[in-house]
Parts: sequence; structure tokens; C-alpha cells
Amino acid sequence: VKRVYRFEEGNCDMGTLLGGKGANLAEMTRLGLPIPPGFTLTTEVCRAFHQAGGQLTDDIFAEICAALKVLETSKQTFFGDEDNPLLVSVRSGSVSSMPGMMDTILNLGLNDFTIQGLAKQTGNEGFAYDCYRRFIQMFGEIVLGIPALHFDKHLEQLKEQKGRENDQEVTAEEWKQLVLRYHWLVEEQSGKAFPQDVYVQLRMAVCAVLRSWNNTRAKVYRKLYQIPDEQGTAVNVQAMVFGNKGDNCGTGVLFTRNPSSGAKELYGEYLINAQGEDVVAGVRTPRSLSELGEEMPEVYAELSRVAGQLEQHYRDMQDVEFTVENGKLFLLQTRSGKRTAQAAVNIAVALVEEGLITKQEAVSRIEAGHLDQLLHRSIEGPEGLRVIAAGLPASPGAATGAVVLDADTAEEWAKAGTRTILVSSETSPEDIHGILAAEGVLTSRGGMTSHAAVVARGMGKPCICGCDGLAIDREQGTITLGEHTLRQGDVISLDGTSGQVYLGSVSLSDPVVSPGLLKLLQYADEFRELSIYTNADTPADAAKAREWGAEGIGLCRTEHMFFSDTRLPIVQAMILAETKEERIHQLGKILPMQQSDFEEMFRVMHGLPVTIRLLDPPLHEFLPNLEQIVEQYRAAVAEGSDKEEVQRLKRLMAKVRSLQESNPMLGLRGCRLGLMFPEIYDMQIEAIFRAAATVVRERLEVRPEIMIPLVGHPDELKAMRALVDEVASQVLSEEMKHFKYRVGTMIEVPRAAIVADAIAEHADFFSFGTNDLTQMTFGYSRDDAEGKFLNGYLEKRVLQDNPFQVLDEEGVGVLIQWAVDKGKARKFFLKTGLCGEHGGDMRSISFCQQIGLDYVSCSPYRIPYARISAAKAAL
Ligand code: ADP
Ligand code: MG
Ligand code: MG
Repeated sequence: VKRVYRFEEGNCDMGTLLGGKGANLAEMTRLGLPIPPGFTLTTEVCRAFHQAGGQLTDDIFAEICAALKVLETSKQTFFGDEDNPLLVSVRSGSVSSMPGMMDTILNLGLNDFTIQGLAKQTGNEGFAYDCYRRFIQMFGEIVLGIPALHFDKHLEQLKEQKGRENDQEVTAEEWKQLVLRYHWLVEEQSGKAFPQDVYVQLRMAVCAVLRSWNNTRAKVYRKLYQIPDEQGTAVNVQAMVFGNKGDNCGTGVLFTRNPSSGAKELYGEYLINAQGEDVVAGVRTPRSLSELGEEMPEVYAELSRVAGQLEQHYRDMQDVEFTVENGKLFLLQTRSGKRTAQAAVNIAVALVEEGLITKQEAVSRIEAGHLDQLLHRSIEGPEGLRVIAAGLPASPGAATGAVVLDADTAEEWAKAGTRTILVSSETSPEDIHGILAAEGVLTSRGGMTSHAAVVARGMGKPCICGCDGLAIDREQGTITLGEHTLRQGDVISLDGTSGQVYLGSVSLSDPVVSPGLLKLLQYADEFRELSIYTNADTPADAAKAREWGAEGIGLCRTEHMFFSDTRLPIVQAMILAETKEERIHQLGKILPMQQSDFEEMFRVMHGLPVTIRLLDPPLHEFLPNLEQIVEQYRAAVAEGSDKEEVQRLKRLMAKVRSLQESNPMLGLRGCRLGLMFPEIYDMQIEAIFRAAATVVRERLEVRPEIMIPLVGHPDELKAMRALVDEVASQVLSEEMKHFKYRVGTMIEVPRAAIVADAIAEHADFFSFGTNDLTQMTFGYSRDDAEGKFLNGYLEKRVLQDNPFQVLDEEGVGVLIQWAVDKGKARKFFLKTGLCGEHGGDMRSISFCQQIGLDYVSCSPYRIPYARISAAKAAL
């Protein structure tokens, strides 16, 4: 097999064999661009080298030497020649980009004899010895493993002795002295003289670059980005060009577009009279590329032309390394440039408009992480700020506000115009008004899918959970964050994207739906097959979602309408009612409130489907907690309060006790409530249809879809459907209105998925409630799993992903697919969709596309993400 390719022999499709750098050097050579000649050892050499326990065989080295001969002929300079020496770089170059992780050696081929030739040939001793001292240092560090600080120390000493501020001022004589010292240093540190045989140098350097595939930082990087260890690195041997010969020389890096904004302009940095890594290493402060236009106008013009050519050819923004030797431009590397989310979007759209890529390509180039960044507020320049604690990055975005310790205070302060951060050990559904009022949420317990996290993500608010450094003293009204003790009202800032907590306030930048993003979303809509619905409980959320492009509401949770200050007491009275009459009486009070909620919802969403889920959570969630009541009761008895009050508390205590369950999530909730207390659902259904009739009277189109939660047996749905149809026909005939509505169910109990055909008999639609379905399929309690074992499972790699974030295709997914197939076989027009956290996850959305769902429903802020994900899935 061929193990060495000259640049003329390769091309950019050979990245697996030649590595990214080698393949692109070959491609640029073919394009006729000014590339110093050279050749590439394939990644197979790397695999063979490591398999042989770190040995480079003689026949491979012979091939290298043969390629070197060709190089000599083309350059008309000769490796190891005392008069006319060829110098080369030995460069690593992996298949997947691993910037800075492996090693490169420059100026190889210098020794005590060839250095004379280089000096004479160029008539520039200072330059020659600068190259030599650089080479010895790089060789010493990379090949011989001598710590850099030894070399640096000698350089510093020399400069100090001679009174030199920077490297440019060092004279030829002084570099010569340094080279001598470096020779001693190498001998002292490695026990051997610096190798004078250039072929020995080459062989050792190639081995060292191959070894660098397995240095610690490269391994860590591979693990982080899941790059396989077998991939290996290629090695490029390339004739040197010199940017350190004088003032008409230099070296730099260039982006063909601005990598942070995406603007079409050359962007980069350069240094005059410098070599290779000086620019990135920060030896001197580099200058902005725009200045090169004045300093070397011809080079700059050439660079612009080449940048354009590379973009045209690669059809993407490029990151290019270049060197100028005596006014002549050479390119040393090109690759697709790293960019910010904003730049990624703007560049993709610009390339479509320039006719370089298709709309499909533009959409598929956008990564999930890009969209995450774009759609949330972020902290401006977080570098200088003080981090005082950190937790799980549970909901992205950034916020600044005054610490408040409970939901009511958050609400009060917000009304008074104060921005707050709700700090709590954990949150429960009753805190929802506090989360709504606060700018962000910080909790000491709970994980990525804890209540606080789910709710915050749904609202697009930043949230940090499981913050270890947080301790709360409610009595004192203080919290400690790391070393800092803060009181209610002190200002902190959260970065929910990184999980970091900052002391004091920070400046925030708003999420921008830039014109670029808007266009990209339009492209996405052309290809996408899934409809994108939203989970919205309030008209405000619904309006927001519509603005972002929602095509319906996939989940409107009615219980959230029960939690407000004015309604909760009535809801509690309804629950505590001793008789059915009393309960109906209380429900009568709730009816107009629910009706007005729904009216507003229908108005906002006119023309689009609105899926309303009837009451789902266990009733005890609406009641005060037992401990509190017991305490109140004891106090009342002790104080000798009046009999009636004591009796009331006693009854309350008994009622709350009677509603307690060992497994409330598997208890009396969902349609079970509807079956046991039909009057509750009755009221909700009436409210929905009265609201719909009112809005129809306003000449708006309504499309109500009533969703029955937690069905496991077909007869549950049968009974509930009968109830809906009965109430609907009664209300509609009273209101003298007629419109279509749908009745369907959430598929969230595994049994429902299994008997989906029988369930479809009574359903117009299925909505997969994947939060509960995942919980019940795995048998993991969602509220406990994260804190107790889920993270451990992920660390031990028992699970690859958190199934509450990324849909488990092998288990839960099979159930969903089964249910879709069975359901559709029974009812051809069955509408199917998914609501749940997974509706905002790219991989899960792609699964929904694969199995042919009609829609996914996600929180309003995830809609742009879902539109693009759905398009990517369809491509
Ligand atoms: P990395 O992958 O860390 O960027 P490179 O192999 O690209 O390492 O090389 C490091 C630096 O040396 C770069 O600035 C590159 O442009 C420069 N360089 C590499 N080979 C040569 C050469 N033959 N002539 C001049 N400069 C070179
Ligand atoms: Mg490079
Ligand atoms: Mg559910």
C-alpha cells in the first residue's frame, strides 16, 4: 500500500487517509495556490506505528526519504546540504479537527553545518540563528521532552544581560550564544548531544508527532468530542517558508468572514517579521489584518483574492494560515472556520444568497447548540466577572435580580417593579407564580428535569439547579453562596447556560431574531413535514408562541389556571366539599373564570387548533401541606381558640390525610379524577364550549381539541368521551352555535400504547405525553431519579443520555411507534403528536419525523429550534 502521498497526489476528499490538514494542502496545491511543496504520511502509518509499540519501520522511513528526494528536486535545495540546505516542517494533522492538541516542529534540517549555508545563502545571519534557536527549542520540547521553561529561562536571561526588550532586537551574535547554551541544555537534560544528522532529526520528529496522538491533552479532547482513538493522525512534511527574514516578511491567520458576526470581510491578525506560532502564542501582540492593507497592499490584495477563491471552492467560511516571505504570499493551511451561533446563521444565509449553497445545506449546517445560544439572553463579556457558585445549567439564558426566598415575595416585588431571582431549596407547582414573576431561578436541590427546571425552560427563564454551594437560612432570611452571605434583596446574576452564579449585576444582551435567523426559519418551513405546536397555559405564552411561528397549541394545562391567589381558595373549598352539591356549588364559581381564560386563549389562537388537557394532577397538590395544618391545629388547641376554628382545622387535617397517597403520581389523578368526580370535568368542558361559542360569535374560527389525560384502558376514554360529547351537545344547543371539535387522549401510560387500537376507537387524536410515558416505562420517578441515581447512571455509562431529555428510542420509542401503527390501522385519520420536554430536543424531533407523527409541541421559546430541527430531520 501507498503510505506517502505528495501534495500533488491528494485531494480534499481524502481526509480520512491524509488528515484534514494534509487533504486541504493537497486540494490547494491542485487549485494552483501558492503552497510550499511537501508530502503526507497517511493515518495508516499512525495506526501501524502504535500497533508496533511506537516503532517506525525502516521501509516506511525509506518511503519518506524517497518523497524527500522529490521535494529536493522541486525546490533545488538539499536536505543536510552545507551550502544550500532544505528545511522542512513536520506537522501533525488529524482527521477531525483537534486544534492545538498535537505537535508540529519547524525549521528541521538545521545543524552546526547547514546553519552556515542558510546564513550565507540568505546573507542574513540573524535570521539563520533565530531559526536555529527556534528549532532546537521545539525539537528539545517535543521530541526530547525537555520542559519549555528551561529554554525560556535562558532566553530571558540573555535578553536581560544584553538589555533587549523583545526578540527583534536580539543580534546575530547573541542568537549564536543562545544556540550554544541550548546545546548544553539539551545535553544536560537528555544526556545526549543534540542530533546533528538531519535524517536522525527527521525520523525522531516524525515519531514524536505520531506519539503526540496519545498525549494526555489529545486523549482528553478525543474523549470530550467522541473522536475514535483508531482514527490516528497524519504527518505532513513540508518545505519551510520564512516569515522571520525581515520587515517584508510576516505570518498570520485569516478568516474569510468575521467569525463572530458573520459579516463578509477579511478578519484576522498578523505579525511582521515572525514565524509560525508567534501569532497564537502571544509572544507579541499581533496587529489587525486591516492594517496589512496599508503595510503590504499587494499582499493584501492577493490575500483577498485567494480568500474569495477558497470560499467559492469550499463553499464555506475558511480559517487560513499564511506566511509572507520577502513580499511573496504562501498559504499553509485552510479549514472550515469555527464561528459563533450568530455568525453561523448569517453566513449560512449569505452563502445561499450568493448562490454557493442550497437552502437545504444552509439549514442542515445549523447545529442544535447554535440555536440554544441564539434564543436566550446572555451575559456580556463574562470574562472579568466574579463566579461565586455553580450548579447544573438547567435552563439557558442569563438574568440579574434581587434574591428572594419565596414565590409570594417574588410576585410582590415584581409588581413593585423589582427584578428578582427566586432562590429556593427546590420548587413545587405552587411556586409557579413566583417563577413567573422572577427573572431566574436558583435551587440547591434537584436536577435538569426537576420541577423548577422544566417550568423555567418552558417559560424561557434561566435556571440553575442542584447548586452545591448554596445554603438557605429561611429563619434569618439569608443565603450563603460559596463564601458569601447574602440577604433577601442582594443582587446576584445567573448564567443558566453555563450554570454559574455571579455576585452583583451584569449587563445582558437580548436574544435577537436577526433578519438572518428569520430567513433561515423560512427556509426550514419549506422542507419541514412536522407541524410545530406549542405548550402554553396562558394567553401571553400563546401569543408569544404564535409570534415565533407556532401552528397550534399541543398542550394547554388547565391546572395552572387554578393556582392564582384568587382562585386557589375556591379550588380548595371545592376539594374539601363534604357533599356533591357543595362541590358543584364551588365549581359553579370557578366556571366563569375558566371560561374567560379559554376565551382569551381561543382569541389569541383563532384559526389554529388548541389542545386543552382536562385536570391532571392529584388533588392534594392544591391543598396546604399536612405539617402546616397540624401545626396550626396544635397552636389553635393550645391557645384555646374557638371551637369552630378548631373543628375546621380538624376536618381539614382529616381531609388532607385522606387524600395522601404513597405514590401520588400513580394515584388518583388524570382521567381517574374525571371518573370519580365527573362534576369537575363537566365544569371544565362546559367552560371550554361556552368560551368557544363566545369567540365564534366574534366571528373568529375556533378549533378546540379536548384531551383526556392518563388513560390506560379504552373504557376510561369511552366514558370520558361520552361526557365531552354530552356536555358539548347541550352547551352548543343552548348557545345555538355549531363548530367542529376533537376529543383525544394523551398516551402516557404504557398500557395505553399497547392497546392503542382499542383506544383509537374512541379517540380523534393521540398526543404522546413522553414525560410520564418515560417515567412509567423505565419505572423511574422523575422527581427523584436525578438527585438519587440518574447522574450516577450517566457517569457509569449505564445510560448514554438522560431519557427525560433525549427520547429513549429503544424502549419508549418502540411503544410510541407501536401505538402509532396500531392506532392508524384502526383509524386512518388519527392525528398524532408529541408533547413533553422531548418536543424541544433535536434527536427526539428527528425520531418523531421518522415514525410519521403529525406534530411536535414544545415550549414557546423552543419553537424556532423545533422548526429548524424538524426541517433537518426531513432533509
Ligand atoms: P497547528 O495544527 O497547531 O496549527 P501547524 O502544523 O499548522 O500546527 O503549524 C504551526 C504553525 O507553524 C502554523 O502557524 C503554521 O502556519 C506554521 N508552519 C507550519 N509549517 C510551516 C512551513 N512549512 N513554513 C512556514 N510556517 C509553517
Ligand atoms: Mg495550524
Ligand atoms: Mg402526564
